Amino acid sequence: MSEGKIIILSAPSGTGKSTIISKLMTRPELRLKFSVSATSRAPRGEEVHGREYYFLTPEEFGRKVEAGEFVEWEEVYAGTRYGTLRSEIERITSQGSNVIMDIDVKGGLNVKKIFGPRALSIFILPPSHEELERRLRGRGTDSEETILKRLAKADFELGFAPQFDTRVVNGDLETATQQTADLITDFIKES
Ligand code: 5GP
Repeated sequence: MSEGKIIILSAPSGTGKSTIISKLMTRPELRLKFSVSATSRAPRGEEVHGREYYFLTPEEFGRKVEAGEFVEWEEVYAGTRYGTLRSEIERITSQGSNVIMDIDVKGGLNVKKIFGPRALSIFILPPSHEELERRLRGRGTDSEETILKRLAKADFELGFAPQFDTRVVNGDLETATQQTADLITDFIKES
């Protein structure tokens, strides 16, 4: 495999991870390309096949698992699988770019284990449990049951933060993005 590095961002839902990734992608000096995951869920809203995800049927997903096409996969939500395709990492790194991936906490730790020093695992933390609750409620789209489930899941996931290479607290979006960009800059400078 070629030289490109692998940047893993994981965080509980509501932490602002996707927004940070979008902001990082606009910085050409980081040479980041987004690793498009495969999922067995259907597209939502404006999502496009090959941009947000490769949308597969549960059967197609299962066949790719059997064929060993995934670096890792997880059933992130009951009945819905998400996974990182080997071909995606090859595609990006062979172009000399670095891979940035938005994957769940367990997947993030697995990818780090597989790629070792070639990967940097970053955990994005909410400033507090109360602030995370405020943000999840502020979306105004989810039921009370969904919010409570997300909060319980977040508390569980936060327990894995110490196992990541590094952590960034997202209190202020611009500051958190800059801190993450600085970490990536230092990491990609290393040989
Ligand atoms: P969504 O809201 O897009 O349905 O759910 C996304 C969740 O699945 C997030 O927690 C995201 O980090 C995770 N996810 C997305 N792609 C992957 C992947 O390839 N592998 C794993 N393990 N998790 C993923």
